[in-house]
Amino acid sequence: MTATPDNVLLGLNFQELTALMDQSGQPTYRARQLFDAIYAQRVISIEHISPLPLEFRRDLGNRGFQIGLPHIEKQFTSTDGTIRYLVKLSDEQTVETVWMPEGDGGESGDGSEAADEQFQSSERAWNRATICVSSQVGCAVDCQFCLTAQLKMKRNLSAGEIAGQVLAVLNERKVQPPNDRINLVFMGMGEPFLNYENFIKAVTLLVEGVGIPASRMTVSTAGIVPRIYDLGAEAIRPKLAISLNGSNDELRTRIMPINRKWNLEKLMAAAREFPLRNREKITFEYVLLDEVNDSPKNASEVAELIRGLRAKVNLIALNPGPGIAFRTPQERRVMEFQRILMASNIPTFIRKPRGRDIFAACGQLKRTVEISPVTG
Ligand code: SAH
Repeated sequence: MTATPDNVLLGLNFQELTALMDQSGQPTYRARQLFDAIYAQRVISIEHISPLPLEFRRDLGNRGFQIGLPHIEKQFTSTDGTIRYLVKLSDEQTVETVWMPEGDGGESGDGSEAADEQFQSSERAWNRATICVSSQVGCAVDCQFCLTAQLKMKRNLSAGEIAGQVLAVLNERKVQPPNDRINLVFMGMGEPFLNYENFIKAVTLLVEGVGIPASRMTVSTAGIVPRIYDLGAEAIRPKLAISLNGSNDELRTRIMPINRKWNLEKLMAAAREFPLRNREKITFEYVLLDEVNDSPKNASEVAELIRGLRAKVNLIALNPGPGIAFRTPQERRVMEFQRILMASNIPTFIRKPRGRDIFAACGQLKRTVEISPVTG
């Protein structure tokens, strides 16, 4: 269900490039040269791959091959430094990818304040950033508070299109991992676990090719339970975040219909069985909707669900949007929710919205041109 032409190199792993070299009558070591050029050097065109003989570069071109990096069509810059990129794919569909200097991806929480200060003092002084990556065009999950849901499901992204968003943004920002500290969160448009194979392949390419450690990546799921078990069995995998958002089945089903298929009992069982590594925690995300899921009782129920798990909670006050029938709670309700969880010894963080003014915050990603008055 992807739309990547078969002459696109981006998205091929080392084995696939090796097979291509065999077919092309080239020595095997050229696969490594190509792999490094695509993922580590992030060349934009085959002509630029200087280790390859000119003749072979021409041959690939004549056969219609291209790197196939997605094109950044537009960008919107927030007052907080967040940049929302509109990324155009080969079939003219678009997805959004968000750059957040300081690394407030919600998944690490280690010293972002200091990094934030550094970033604000000068454009290139940041030392850490998070890229929020999309996995599908649109989304089928239908969470009632999320703008992407309004698009409905258009199509899966290929592995190349998922990894390609990162490459395009790194090129645009002139960033070089691992020297520049980049975190990735697979929390953009779509449900990564409903595009599991391509998502995992992209992760491997980003780890092995681009050099971003898997420990700096977090994938967030609305709760596709069988894929939580699959993720636990992967040799190379990001950290896991689960969008909880409801503290009991009745409530969660109302705002996340997917809960009918995989209810809290099944979801929490998968979370409990998830094989955590040393010092790793599961993140639970909880979007607070005013007077819907944000009462002290809800907070106690969340604490009860999570009891005994190595976990932390990220609270996100609703980011509003057109057609979203919920309100953002007052800060004191958010603080009270946090206090109750903390009293149960659950580390709980309040995620500050990033790029709300440019519709870049969680749940706000949609077709840019339609919803944003800002251009850039
Ligand atoms: N499909 C995946 C990843 C995309 S959503 C998932 O559901 O986890 C990423 C995060 O944004 C989720 O935790 C989701 O609950 C949250 N979110 C969605 N809409 C939001 C909104 N309007 N305001 C704040 N957070 C939102």
